[in-house]
Amino acid sequence: MSKKRLGVLTSGGDAQGMNAAVRAVVRAALGKGADVYAIYEGYQGMILGDNYIRQVQWDIVGGILQKGGTVFGTARSPEFRTREGRRKAVRNLIVHGIDRLVIIGGDGSLTGANLLRQEWTDHLRDLVASGDISQESADEHAYLSIAGLVGSIDNDMLGTDMTIGADTALHRITEAVDAITSTAASHQRAFVVEVMGRNCGYLALMGALASGADWVLIPESPPNVQDWEDKMCDILRKGRQIGRRDSIVIVAEGAQDLNGNPITSDYVKKILEEKMGEDVRVTVLGHVQRGGAPSAYDRVLATLVGVAAAETVLNAGPGDEALLIGIRDNKVTALPLMECVERTHAINRAIRERNYEEALELRGRSFKESFRMLRTLVRATPHPPRPGQKRFRVGIMNAGGPAPGMNAAVRAAVRLTIDRGHIPLGIYRGFRGLINDDVRELEWMSVNGWSPTGGSELGTSRKLPKGSDLYAIARTIENHHIDALMIIGGWTGYEAALHMHEERRNFPAFNIPMICIPATINNNLPGAELSIGADTALNSIVEAVDKIKQSAVASNRCFIVEVMGRNCGYLALMSAMATGAERVYLPEEGITLNDLQADVHMLVDGFQQGKRLGLMIRNENANPLYTTTFLAALFEQEGGDLFDVRTAILGHLQQGGNPTPFDRIMATRMTAHAVEYLEQVLNENEEDKPAVCMGMTQGQMRLTPLYEVPRIMDMRNQRPKHEWWMDLRSIVRILAHPSRSTAQYGDDLLGS
Ligand code: ADP
Repeated sequence: MSKKRLGVLTSGGDAQGMNAAVRAVVRAALGKGADVYAIYEGYQGMILGDNYIRQVQWDIVGGILQKGGTVFGTARSPEFRTREGRRKAVRNLIVHGIDRLVIIGGDGSLTGANLLRQEWTDHLRDLVASGDISQESADEHAYLSIAGLVGSIDNDMLGTDMTIGADTALHRITEAVDAITSTAASHQRAFVVEVMGRNCGYLALMGALASGADWVLIPESPPNVQDWEDKMCDILRKGRQIGRRDSIVIVAEGAQDLNGNPITSDYVKKILEEKMGEDVRVTVLGHVQRGGAPSAYDRVLATLVGVAAAETVLNAGPGDEALLIGIRDNKVTALPLMECVERTHAINRAIRERNYEEALELRGRSFKESFRMLRTLVRATPHPPRPGQKRFRVGIMNAGGPAPGMNAAVRAAVRLTIDRGHIPLGIYRGFRGLINDDVRELEWMSVNGWSPTGGSELGTSRKLPKGSDLYAIARTIENHHIDALMIIGGWTGYEAALHMHEERRNFPAFNIPMICIPATINNNLPGAELSIGADTALNSIVEAVDKIKQSAVASNRCFIVEVMGRNCGYLALMSAMATGAERVYLPEEGITLNDLQADVHMLVDGFQQGKRLGLMIRNENANPLYTTTFLAALFEQEGGDLFDVRTAILGHLQQGGNPTPFDRIMATRMTAHAVEYLEQVLNENEEDKPAVCMGMTQGQMRLTPLYEVPRIMDMRNQRPKHEWWMDLRSIVRILAHPSRSTAQYGDDLLGS
């Protein structure tokens, strides 16, 4: 039987992470024993054939993981929109024996893919009739199998929670708005920032949520009053009155009003100038949003869906429907492509027809929830307490090591608490603040501008209260009449809260609702798939490794990069996937002498066969004796003249930095849930108050009682007993080594 032949192309608008997807598709397919063809310049190349369709090998996709754009080129092909054009494309595919395709593109490209598949049989018949292909070829390739990956910065496709490129675009937007905010504040200016999104307000909405913008205009949900201009100016004016030095309005390029008229950034500028007499500047971010290196998330996402797409089309049987490979609740999914395309078109239609409620509904729960949250957070002043309502005093604190995003979480916690009529109390320097009575009431404006900042404005510490500390804490809680405690931090916070909860018989003051919100770069907390801060740390690692790799231009070199994570290998594994490292050392697996021997052979083999750069990532606690220095010495010695070895211990740069949009948004969403939860249990007023930790697992915000924690945690190693990301280990190996890539993997990815 002849080998399976798979074609891969990128089409439509480019998006960061397309290269990572291409790399994963090519390598995973080669690993499965298929012949792989690159189709250059999207559908145009498919129509032109010849040199635009070329068989590719492993190395063709080397060194591209970190590059924006797409190395296979992309194009918009008007000809492909015609039946005649598609017939030419089919001919060229048949000439090359290709009947399996992975298409990476946006909504348009995937619509085209769907059409191609539907018409395949008709085209074959016509091509046989015209003598362009033989009947045997037509019979041999009677079916076309397709897997689609969504590469689009807009995050505008249904069937996947995230499209490849959207996270990076959000990085660009957030960086830009952060920068604009500082200049706007210096001059007391208003800025209108226009972001991409013709039909989809995702970038505008999430960009506003992440950057703490003051107003946002999106296509799916026009301002719900006819005189929205007055309302917007009113809010911005009030903001100024209470001390905001800047006003930032984010406008999606497809924003419109209730009558379906476009709201342009220039129109918003005009309104602000006329009605507020402001000095207003417009920044249209444009293609900046498509540019730059892909974020860690986009690299990982593209890699996971790329591997699964190759697997899917290679396993497809005759007549199997085309599938869209996406991500849902952190898991790779395969859904019928046609349905996803149709539902996406339904949103676009709903917006055109001004059925805004339907459009918002179709966007889904998380989008709607984010919009609702934003509307509270942008208010210049909170809703006043309702007459006669119970006003609770909520203690808000950080604990453990600093994690980027802690401030965004505290900001949201403070504002949402006040907006619901309650009183937020800031507890300074973690449990030290509770012990030393360092507690102050926080106001709406006291957290202004906190969202983009790294570190912890409240201060945090690893102090774990013991013995007499408990008396002091009880006194502080009583003195300040703290009704509930929100602890945003790492394991220290969880341990302390659990201890207090267990001691509540001895210390009645501890019998208050407590909620722990996961915030640590280590991502080692119970009941949460991701903790606030881990995404930022991952991006810091990836940026550093990109630079380190670039430094090795002249010699054959192997780098060993040591990353944080304590006893949890999350950062190590994910950064290995996002940087294309060939080996990762995890604390969960340890390091044995046999491993090291195998690694030495792998390196020697690789460099003998002409490779120039090696990259290994080692978690700081992977093995207490086989340290990074030890590994370097071993490899150096065994590598002889073949290669030299350098180490890079990344250290505290991983804990610092401004939080990524993802961390800011997650921080905000989690605290919003936490505030609602605390209010609910305080109102219920059960005798025994709950102590819980929260986290997103399988797409749901879930609460786990703290008394469950010892059961689900490996307490000695301070990490969950089950770590979801451990299933992804084989991907790193598969994509790094041609020789080892026959393992089974894709089935895992698709959730079996
Ligand atoms: P994107 O894929 O980023 O949404 P486009 O909408 O421009 O970008 O689509 C990219 C290409 O996909 C188009 O240039 C065209 O070749 C093809 N395409 C888009 N829509 C269709 C369609 N309805 N029928 C056939 N081909 C299409």
